[in-house]
Amino acid sequence: NIGKDRPVIRQLDDAAINRIAAGEVVERPASAVKELVENAIDAGAARIAIEIADGGKTLIRVTDDGCGIAPGDLPLALARHATSKIDGTDLLDIHSFGFRGEALPSLGAVGRLTLTSRAPGHDAAMIRVAGGTIEPVKPAALRAGTVAELRDLFYATPARLKFMRSDRAETQAIADVVKRLAMAEPSVGFTLRDMSGGGSRETFRADAEQGELFDALTARLAGVMGRDFTDNALRIDATRDGLRLYGLAALPTYSRGAAVAQFLFVNGRPVRDRMLTGALRGAYADFLSRDRHPVAALFIDCAPSLVDVNVHPAKSEVRFRDPGTARGLIVSALRHALAGAGHRASTTVSG
Ligand code: ADP
Ligand code: MG
Repeated sequence: NIGKDRPVIRQLDDAAINRIAAGEVVERPASAVKELVENAIDAGAARIAIEIADGGKTLIRVTDDGCGIAPGDLPLALARHATSKIDGTDLLDIHSFGFRGEALPSLGAVGRLTLTSRAPGHDAAMIRVAGGTIEPVKPAALRAGTVAELRDLFYATPARLKFMRSDRAETQAIADVVKRLAMAEPSVGFTLRDMSGGGSRETFRADAEQGELFDALTARLAGVMGRDFTDNALRIDATRDGLRLYGLAALPTYSRGAAVAQFLFVNGRPVRDRMLTGALRGAYADFLSRDRHPVAALFIDCAPSLVDVNVHPAKSEVRFRDPGTARGLIVSALRHALAGAGHRASTTVSG
């Protein structure tokens, strides 16, 4: 009679595993948008159209003109730990947003996901997965690229559904995600439309920017953060020990009462990192009173081997091999720029 209460060890099935993983990867509609838009960027898209309804809870549709997926690969795109982006031999050499092969299976486990795609030289095809149940690939009509349509997010996990905030709050979070990715990719065009209630309202648009790095970046940042920012910002461009820091940092006179306009990117990836925001704060310490916060959009680029992006599934944290170098670079480059600007300002005043 020991058998009665003895716990039995079972292998979970894929649907259960994907639902559990989804808890980490897909916290709210904005995280689903992030995953789908990152996939579009990874696919080399020049234009990405994002449509949402009801804060993304009922509909998220991302349309891109990227490389597409061949019909035979569609089931793999939905399979767990299947990715076209790395071969697993060098996790320190990652050049794409994705690499875990977790997003699509997770989304398909907690919502209804349809992928329609066409790769050059192939017919268009589609595949559907709902609540983890995958349907066979079917022919479809599409000229090029991919449409990823996610409906009824979290319908399969009602507990998670209860944690959703208002449509307004979720829509705002989605817009933030899209804007951050738009800042990271000036050469890609983005549109965000709200289709709630059967309407179609453009809530954000950033046309593809051409030109040299700083010109394209400045134009994109003006579009996303406002021309006030770019008109009142210093160009930052500095290197140290294999790290390059570039971007725009606002003059101390253009500061904020809260740390709400600080955008940091590592190897093109939007990150939220305490060490980096701490460095930003430190750099402005001599130029701002304690209740004011700097405004900046800063990019650190380095060899993928110098930074580990494999810290968390949502991947907004990074770990530098040498955090001191990143910190020192930010502090010294910004201080130098700010001191020079102060100097120029006082020269102008006295002259
Ligand atoms: P990951 O991005 O980590 O590889 P995903 O689950 O997000 O994992 O996607 C799985 C695979 O599906 C990708 O590696 C890619 O080959 C393919 N894929 C997903 N979205 C797109 C897209 N928009 N265009 C082309 N291929 C895509
Ligand atoms: Mg992905």
